[in-house]
Amino acid sequence: MEFPVVSETQIQAIAGAVNFEQGLEYFEQGMVEAVQAHGASVQASVGDRNNRHYLVSIQIHSVQQIAIQCTCPAQASEFCAHGVAVLLFLSYCAEQVLPATASKVTLDELEPSQLRTLLRDVAEQHPEVSSLVDERIERLGF
Ligand SMILES: [Zn+2]
Repeated sequence: MEFPVVSETQIQAIAGAVNFEQGLEYFEQGMVEAVQAHGASVQASVGDRNNRHYLVSIQIHSVQQIAIQCTCPAQASEFCAHGVAVLLFLSYCAEQVLPATASKVTLDELEPSQLRTLLRDVAEQHPEVSSLVDERIERLGF
């Protein structure tokens, strides 16, 4: 693991009590999914009670330097509950973090029809992915 481990106390101090409590709930309910790390960058998907999923991207340079991007509406503040949930996952379930290359190798090995099925399945489960895919397709000129 190439990123520094951030402890629960540190996460709480950085995120604030409200974000921390909510993030802890997401983490404890197993809402953090598909955690992938590549060097100091971590990507994950976090669900909420309304079955919405947010894509969280975190760069951990040091405990003092953590950058979070999240697709949720609360992104105005630099730390959101989804970021907290992912940091908690990193802290407690580090062994479950997947290397980012694992899925890349698999994608290269898939047939075009398998890729289409995979993308369709993901888009169905994650509405925000669906709109991203539509946007990209539109940009390609279709
Ligand atoms: Zn968020």
